[in-house]
Amino acid sequence: MPIHAFTVGDIQCTVLSELESQAPYDENLTNFFITATFEEIRAAADEVGEGDHLTNAINPLLIQSGNTNLLVDTGIGNPEVSGLLGALSEAGVAPDQIDIVFITHLHGDHFGGLLQNGEPAFPNARYVINRAEWEFWLSEEKLAEGGPRIDGLKKGLLPLEDQFSFVEPGDEIIPGVEVVDAPGHTPGHVGLYLSSGDKSLLFLVDTLHRVVQLARPTWHFVYDTDKDLAVQSRIALLTRAADDDQFTLFYHLPFPGLGHVKRVGDAFRWQPIDS
Ligand SMILES: [Zn+2]
Repeated sequence: MPIHAFTVGDIQCTVLSELESQAPYDENLTNFFITATFEEIRAAADEVGEGDHLTNAINPLLIQSGNTNLLVDTGIGNPEVSGLLGALSEAGVAPDQIDIVFITHLHGDHFGGLLQNGEPAFPNARYVINRAEWEFWLSEEKLAEGGPRIDGLKKGLLPLEDQFSFVEPGDEIIPGVEVVDAPGHTPGHVGLYLSSGDKSLLFLVDTLHRVVQLARPTWHFVYDTDKDLAVQSRIALLTRAADDDQFTLFYHLPFPGLGHVKRVGDAFRWQPIDS
């Protein structure tokens, strides 16, 4: 899968494409944008020029600073579909050269690549996560509740439990890479703010999932845990990105997921980089 390398001052960054897929603009989309009708979705798609299909990408980020290789999120990890390890190799980094894996939140398309056949995919790495996210999903009540998400965590995350350490919004994972509070998609969902010299990048991860959501930021998205809080975070962070003319990365927007957020009335537009 493709990679896209760029720098943020002295920090080397590479978007590693795990996969990209397309879905038709059909009635099924009302299952995802649950407060919108199909006609409203279609109108928004026309406005942003999305055509007949909308794209879902998975864009983990490799950050290289000093001697540290930091991987942000690990994709789904299913070897039948995952291009992540191939993309990492393309970037010139072997899995055992990853020093730190940061997990932005505990959905399977972000932590699923931690283990391959039950073995750590990044055998020399330590793992870092926002404490609030860990405490929400791995509370005794949640673990007892069960269900597919919890079963996924028991199988795909808990074997590595002892190697996790915790950060909070405002903390730096490594110098120049700060954790940004972005709650709602999950209770402890976070982004990152990278800065070096006068350059910066805001990684907003799953603050939104599709290009059409910039045009309709108040729509509720089915996989947001707290939908009202997700809308609040989305609008606040999109506003910050637009007003600061901030170079921005999203995990699920079409590869490489990099560009700028522009204001249009009460809403926004996505201006992807030419890659
Ligand atoms: Zn996601």
